[in-house]
Amino acid sequence: VKTKFSASSRLAVLQEMAGETLDLLVIGGGITGAGIALDASVRGMKVGVVEKADFGSGTSSRSTKLIHGGLRYLKQGEVKLVREVGRERAILYKNAPHLVIPAPMLLPIYQGGTYGYLASSVGLYLYDLLAGVERTERRKMLSRDETIRQEPLLKRDRLKGG
Ligand SMILES: Cc1cc2nc3c(=O)[nH]c(=O)nc-3n(C[C@H](O)[C@H](O)[C@H](O)COP(=O)(O)OP(=O)(O)OC[C@H]3O[C@@H](n4cnc5c(N)ncnc54)[C@H](O)[C@@H]3O)c2cc1C
Repeated sequence: VKTKFSASSRLAVLQEMAGETLDLLVIGGGITGAGIALDASVRGMKVGVVEKADFGSGTSSRSTKLIHGGLRYLKQGEVKLVREVGRERAILYKNAPHLVIPAPMLLPIYQGGTYGYLASSVGLYLYDLLAGVERTERRKMLSRDETIRQEPLLKRDRLKGG
């Protein structure tokens, strides 16, 4: 399409597209549709995308945009799924390093909390292996003192580490 991508030129773009023969027409311009269209066009296909509202206005506008790897699936015993999601995550990381930016997170562990220190350590170790997380980005278990040093405002009562 020669017309620029803008809401003001939408009608002209649709009219221009109606005169073309496409290899693929994607219905829905959320992240799934946009991803399929991008993938197909870099493979040389002639692709069109139609959207009934506005591009990215559906569920995709609500996403927190985290390329998370489905840690909760591990808790549910879905080992195959963790591996698959991890593989996809690694592909995104490799293909779009300008968009996929690592965000370190600290998970404080409290006595009597949802996750124990040992269970967290083993669970995250397994997760890193299954999901193929880069060696330098794998989980680090912190002592209580180190956790407080990183986040001095954390509630200290019953804090075991992070
Ligand atoms: C609060 C929240 C947080 C989330 N956080 C994350 C996250 O951190 N990481 C993550 O990976 N996922 C997250 N998700 C999930 C993620 O947002 C969705 O999986 C994803 O946006 C789905 O994209 P989609 O393109 O399939 O759907 P949508 O974004 O809904 O796109 C579908 C589009 O199709 C259009 N459409 C429908 N029917 C037609 C039609 N007949 N003709 C033309 N167009 C049509 C709609 O208007 C819409 O724009 C989150 C979801 C929510 C709600």
